This record gives sequence, C-alpha cells and structure tokens, in this order.
Amino acid sequence: MHKKTIRDIPLKGMRALVRVDFNVPMDDAGQITDENRIQGALPTIQYLIEHEAKVILMSHMGRPKGAVNPKYSLAPVAQRLSHLLGQKVRMAKDVIGPDADAAVAELKDGGVVLLENLRYHAEEEKNNADFARKLASYGDVYVNDAFGTAHRAHASTEGVAHYLPAVSGFLIEKELQFLGQAVENPERPFVAVLGGAKVSDKLGVIKNLLDKVDTLIIGGGMAYTFVKAQGGEIGKSLLEEDKLDYAREMLEKARAKGVKLLLPEDTLAADSFSNDASSKVVLSGEIPEGWLGLDIGPKAQKAFSDAIKSARTVVWNGPMGVFELSNFASGTRAVAQAMADSDAVTIVGGGDSAAAVAQLGFAGKISHISTGGGASLEFLEGLELPGVAALNDK
Ligand code: AMP
Repeated sequence: MHKKTIRDIPLKGMRALVRVDFNVPMDDAGQITDENRIQGALPTIQYLIEHEAKVILMSHMGRPKGAVNPKYSLAPVAQRLSHLLGQKVRMAKDVIGPDADAAVAELKDGGVVLLENLRYHAEEEKNNADFARKLASYGDVYVNDAFGTAHRAHASTEGVAHYLPAVSGFLIEKELQFLGQAVENPERPFVAVLGGAKVSDKLGVIKNLLDKVDTLIIGGGMAYTFVKAQGGEIGKSLLEEDKLDYAREMLEKARAKGVKLLLPEDTLAADSFSNDASSKVVLSGEIPEGWLGLDIGPKAQKAFSDAIKSARTVVWNGPMGVFELSNFASGTRAVAQAMADSDAVTIVGGGDSAAAVAQLGFAGKISHISTGGGASLEFLEGLELPGVAALNDK
C-alpha cells in the first residue's frame, strides 16, 4: 500500500507537525556523540522549509520515564540543528505547555521549532488521546519521518494521525520502498541473512521469511540452537532449549518449501568468553565440551559470501559472531564485505549490523541501511507498523 508523502500535499503556510527521531547518543557532558539521526532528518526538514511550511519538530530522547529531566533535554539537538540548517531553531521549554504554545503561535513560514522531549509525558507511550489531540492542535498536517519508532503506537507516532492529514517524510518513504520491495516483490534470488544472539527475538521473522526467500542464512549465536536441533554437539555455545522444537519446525518448513537454509558448517570456538581465549576452528556440530562458538568459521564465511554474491536481493540483520571482540569479528566482517561487493539490492537492518557496516566504511556500498532495527524486523516479520498504517493512502 502506498502512503502519501510530503510531496503529495500543499505545504505553503501550513503548520507541519513532524515526528523525527532525534534520539541521539550523548556523553555525560551533554555533547552529541553521533549526529547521524539529525543528518538523516535534514532532507525532510529542508524540503518543508523550502516549501514555506511552518515546521514543528517533535522527538523522544532516552527514557525519562514520564518525568521532566534536564539530562534528556533536546536542547543540544536544537543547537546542532540550527547550525546544520543555517537558521535558528527555537527550542520550546516544554512539550505541550505555554512555551510550546507561544513558539508555535509565533512561527513564521519557513521557521522551525523543536518541542521538548515527548517522553517527559507518560501519555506519549500510552498513546493517550488527549495528549495526542493537544499535539495535533499545533499542526495543520502531520508528517512522520521516524521509522525507528514506527512499530510503536505512541501518541506522536500513531495517535496524532487520527486528527490531521497524515503523510510520511523522505526517510520513511525510503524505508517503505526498500523493505516493501524486498518482502513483496524481490528480484530473485532473494537471500536473507540473520544473526545475533537469540532465536527468540527472531521467531516471527524466520517464519515469515521462509515464505519469501530462496535462501535463508542463519549465523551468530542463534545458529547453535539449530545445530543442536539437528543432533549436533555445541558445547557451551548459546542454546535456547525451549526453542529446539521451533528450530526443528523451521528446518522442516524450509525443506517443504524448497528454501535453502544455510547454517555455519564450521565455527571458531573458544575455551572462554573473552578476546584472549584459546580458539580453534571446528565443525559446528562437533564443538568440544566446555568450548563455545563465538564466530562462524572460514568455510561458513565462504559459503555465506557466495550465497550473498549470487543473490539479486539481500537482507541482513544481526552479527555472525561476538563482533565486539576483535578476534571474533571476522565472520561479521566477511558478510559485510560480501554485501558491499554485491551488485544486488542490499538492505541492512538497523542496530549491530548497521554499525558493523559503518565501522568498516562500507555504508556507501549498501543500497539501504535501515534507520530502525526493531521496526525493520517487525516489517520483515510481516507485521503492520502502527506508525505507517496510520498514514493516508495515496
Ligand atoms: P542481537 O541483539 O540479537 O542482534 O544480538 C547481537 C549480539 O549477539 C551481539 O552483542 C553479539 O555479541 C551477540 N552474538 C553474536 N554471536 C554470538 C555467539 N556466537 N555467542 C554469543 N553471543 C553472540
């Protein structure tokens, strides 16, 4: 379903209430340590300014748990944004209080206001109707450009859309284009690569992707529950006992559907969970007692990379090993490299895999890096994201 975007509505003189994701990391001194999310919101904000809308921005920051807490103020973001836009961004001292009222009332065409942290109010996450209605009173149109929170039905992501014409900004538009194309109409072969610690985080994703993909690659800690389900010995590797039956079911589903399900044939095992541990390459189903798999082995790297390189569409979410430990990062690096080398449409889910791709300097070689880890997983799971569903159809 195609959703309206800011290109589809009149903007001149309109108050555009825009949900952005300015939840940037800050150090103890209140300095922004990574401004990627602010940069990501610029195209939408600049478009609105150029089209002479009055721009009212709103975001959450951290977890202030429904109380005002200066530690989570968005004021440093307003300062940084003023610099990036080359025009003053007025910081409202509250979210729906008198200062926000005044700031919005005094806004000129092309002007920008940033409301305080939405999560100063518990009503935000409760999707309280009064709170949503008050936020909506600041706008003539609602623009959602925060994909990272689109899987949550909060007042600023879902509630407000009931009271205003509701469209997406450019970030959400791009997410829907890439993720939507991948799950609805992918160029084949379509390969999905899943990793990370837990099977239980990806139950729905595995199940849904088995209906869509030609090849499903499972690496990372979650692979060992599958290896064990096939009768392998996995030593002290991560295991979710209560997901063994599920793993067997998925292996069977893959067989029945003719989907190739690739598990790591070999593993880099360690004698303890540490970067200085003794390590050796073993078959994933023959991990010695007391040892644990912390990364995929060289044969698995090659097999996974080959599958990625022969694909026309690839989606990747989750590291292949404990990549935070440098000696166990090469599997994750190999997958990132194969993604970067591929001519396919390459999509990286948010979180660890996006960070790995960025660290390696491959970001420019990936077709799309999602700005929402949880949201992109729910999308791949086939779930409807409330913050997207609430937007007006084209
Ligand atoms: P997730 O949040 O599920 O994407 O998992 C990411 C985490 O999984 C990272 O912190 C990795 O260190 C961890 N991880 C990946 N592979 C393994 C493994 N073989 N054993 C333990 N932890 C792992």
